[in-house]
Amino acid sequence: MQSPAINKAMDILRQLRTITEGQDTLPVKLENIVRLIAEQMSADAASFYIAVDGSRLELFAAYGLNPEAQHRVSFRFGEGLTGEVAQNNRTLNVADAWSHPKFAHKPELGEEQYKSFLGVPLIRWSRSIGVLSVQTREIREFSSLDVEILETVAMVLSEIVSSDEMAELKKGLSKGNNLNEREKLKGISLSKGYGLGTCIVHRRRQAVTKIFAEDKEKELHRLELAYGQMNADLDEKFASTKLGIGEHVEILDAYRMFARDKGWYKKIADNIHSGLTAEAAVERAYEDMWNRLSGTSDSYLKERLHDLRDVADRLQSYLSGDYGSIKGVNADDLIVVAQTMGPADLMDYDYSKIRGLIIEDGTPTMHVAIVAKALNIPVVAKIRGIFEEAKTGELIAVDGTDGYVYMRPSAVVQEKFRAKIAEKDRLQARLAELKELPAQTKDGVKINLYLNVGLAFDLDYIETTNCDGIGLYRTEIPFMASDVMPDVERQMGYYKELMDKAGDKKVIFRSLDVGSDKLLPYWGNVGEENPAIGWRSIRITLDRRAILRKQVRAFLRAAAGKELNVMFPMVANLSEFEEARETLLIELEREKRRGENVPSKVNVGLMIEVPSVIFQLDAILKQADFISIGTNDLAQFIFACDRGNPRLTERYDVLSAPFLSMMGEIVSKANAAGVYCSVCGEMASNPIEALALIGLGYRNLSMSGSSFGRVKSMVRTMNAEDVEDYVHTLLKSQKRTLRPQLISYAYDHGIEIY
Ligand code: PEP
Ligand code: MG
Repeated sequence: MQSPAINKAMDILRQLRTITEGQDTLPVKLENIVRLIAEQMSADAASFYIAVDGSRLELFAAYGLNPEAQHRVSFRFGEGLTGEVAQNNRTLNVADAWSHPKFAHKPELGEEQYKSFLGVPLIRWSRSIGVLSVQTREIREFSSLDVEILETVAMVLSEIVSSDEMAELKKGLSKGNNLNEREKLKGISLSKGYGLGTCIVHRRRQAVTKIFAEDKEKELHRLELAYGQMNADLDEKFASTKLGIGEHVEILDAYRMFARDKGWYKKIADNIHSGLTAEAAVERAYEDMWNRLSGTSDSYLKERLHDLRDVADRLQSYLSGDYGSIKGVNADDLIVVAQTMGPADLMDYDYSKIRGLIIEDGTPTMHVAIVAKALNIPVVAKIRGIFEEAKTGELIAVDGTDGYVYMRPSAVVQEKFRAKIAEKDRLQARLAELKELPAQTKDGVKINLYLNVGLAFDLDYIETTNCDGIGLYRTEIPFMASDVMPDVERQMGYYKELMDKAGDKKVIFRSLDVGSDKLLPYWGNVGEENPAIGWRSIRITLDRRAILRKQVRAFLRAAAGKELNVMFPMVANLSEFEEARETLLIELEREKRRGENVPSKVNVGLMIEVPSVIFQLDAILKQADFISIGTNDLAQFIFACDRGNPRLTERYDVLSAPFLSMMGEIVSKANAAGVYCSVCGEMASNPIEALALIGLGYRNLSMSGSSFGRVKSMVRTMNAEDVEDYVHTLLKSQKRTLRPQLISYAYDHGIEIY
C-alpha cells in the first residue's frame, strides 16, 4: 500500500506534470505551480524562492501575497524563516511565525494576515537552491503528512529549478555576479603545489526525474543489484589500489564499511516500500540522515555526511547504469572539480593523471584532502559556485600554494603555470641532491633538522631526507584515524614501527594532543564554546589518567633498550608537567617491577605553547630534560588569534618584534641552562621563518617532510653570525611585520628561500 502522503503527492505531481509539460512560459508555469500547491494543501498562501548568487533567496512566484513582491523581495541566507530554511537545509514548521525569534517582517510581501509557516528547502548537490513555503491564516502546526507532501513536491521542483530554461530565466532577471565572468578565484589551500589541466566535473549524481514507483518489486530488485555491484566493485578497487600503508588506507576502509551499512540499506528499502523509486528512495534516505546530522556541531559526524553523500551518489550512478563513464575527457592532465568528495572517489580516476583537485565544500580535515596530500595533489577549496559553473573539458589552473584557481587561464597564465610546475620539478630534483650534504651554515654552524610525523606516509621521509631524527611525533593522528581507542598493544605497534624506521636517530613522542580541532571519532563532542582553550590535550589526559598511563606504557615498551623521549603538549604550569612526568615515572617503575625490558634512558620534556609557562621558564628548565616550542598554538595564544580562522591568517605575523623577542628569550634561557630546545611548530618549516629562528640562536628545528629540502638549502646558503646580528637589529623595530625586511636580506645575501 502507498502511504497517504505518497498518494496525495502523486496526485499533486500528476497536476504538476500537466503544468510543466504545457506551453506556458516558465514564469506562468511557476505561478500555476504555487497556486496548485496552496490549493491542494489547503493553505492560504504559497511562495517559491530561488537562490540567486548563492547568497540570497529571491521570490520567483507567490500565491496569496502581494503580486508586486515577485523579484523584488529577497532574503539573505539565514535571514527570516525562509533564510533559516535555506541556511540549515532543513524544514521549518512553525505554528505562529510572528512569534518565532527568526521571523523577519518584509512589508512588501503583504503577509500580515498569515500566522503559520511551513518551509522546505529545495536541495541540489547538498545545498539549498530554493525554498518552497505555505502559510495559513490560522495558528496551527502543519501535520507530518503535510510536511512529507511538501518535501516530496520540493524534490520535483528542485529538478525544474536546475533546468536550462530556469538558468536562462535567472540570468535574465538577476544582475548578480556570474562566476563565468571571473577568471581568478580565491579559495583556501588544502594541499600545496601547482596544477594545470582539463577540467573534469565530478558530478556522478544524476537528477532524480522519476519519483514514484510503478512496481515496488522491480525497484527493490534494482536496488539489490546496484548495491551488490557497487560493493563488489569497491572491494576490487581497494584490493588493486596501491596506496601503501598509512592513515589514508584506514580512512578508505572506514568508507567501505560505510558503503556496506545495513541500516542505511534498510532505510532505502523502506522508502521503496512506501512507493518511491529506488533513486528517489536513496535521496530520501540521504536527506533524512542530513536532517538528523547536519545540525550537529561534531565535526567528525559532519565529515561522515560527506562520505554519506558520496556513497549515495555512487549508488545512484549504479542505479542509472552509467557508473564509471567519464565522458568527453581524454586528457593526460586532469583537474577534478567536485562539490564534495569521498576518499574513495579519487580511485575513480587514474590519479597519476590528476594534477589538481578543487572541492567547493572542502575543509582541511576532510578525508579526501588527507589522501590527496599523501598523493602530492594540490587541492583548493571553498570557492562558492565553482561546482555549478565549471564545465568538463575546459582548461583550469590550480595554485594550491596560495589557494587560487584560474578558470580558462589565458596563454600568459598557462605559461606561468608551466614554468612553476617545471621549476618545482627542478627544485625537487635539486633538493634531493642535497640529501647527503650536511645541514651546516656557510660559517660552519651545524643545524639539526628533524621531521614532524603523524601519518604513516610521513615515515618515508625518514629515508628520503637523511634527517637528524623525529622532533615531533603527533601520536593523536593514528588515534584519530582509528574507529576505537587503540589499546596498549596496538599503540605499541605504531610507536615501534617508528622507532624501527628511525634506527639510531632521536625520536620525540608527544603524548595525546586531542580536543579543539582534533576530535576522536569515538568520543562525543563535549560542546565547548571555546574548544581551542578548552578541555584538550594534557588537560584531558591528566583528567583521564588511564589514557595517559596506557600511552606511556606503550612508549616505554616500544622504546625498550633504546633512548625514549616523551613530551607533553599544552602544559600551562609546572605542576601539570610534574604530574604528567610522575605518571610516566610510575609506569616506568611498574614495568621494571614486572621485569619488562625498559628504555636505556628516559628524557621527559614539554611543549612551550601556552604563554603562562614562559613566565615559569627558569623553574621549568631545572626540571625538564628538553623543551620544544609549538609556535602554532603559541602564536594563537600570544596574539589571541584563532589559528584556523582564514580571515585572520595575515593579520599578525610571527616575524614581528614581540614574537621574535619572546622566542629569543626562550632559547637564550634554555641554552644557558644547557637544556635541549627545539621548534616544532610551522615556523621551522618555513625557510624565511626558520632563518629568523637560527638568527635568534635556535639550532634544532623540526619540520614537515615536504619542507625539509627547502629549509636545508636555506641553512646551507646562510651565514649564522651575520644573520644573528641582523635579526637582533630588527628586534628594535615597531613594524607590524618584519617579513619584507627579512626576505630582502635573504635576496641580498644569496640565501635560498624557496
Ligand atoms: C604547535 O602548536 O605548534 C604544534 C606543533 O602542535 P600542533 O600543531 O599539533 O598543535
Ligand atoms: Mg599545538
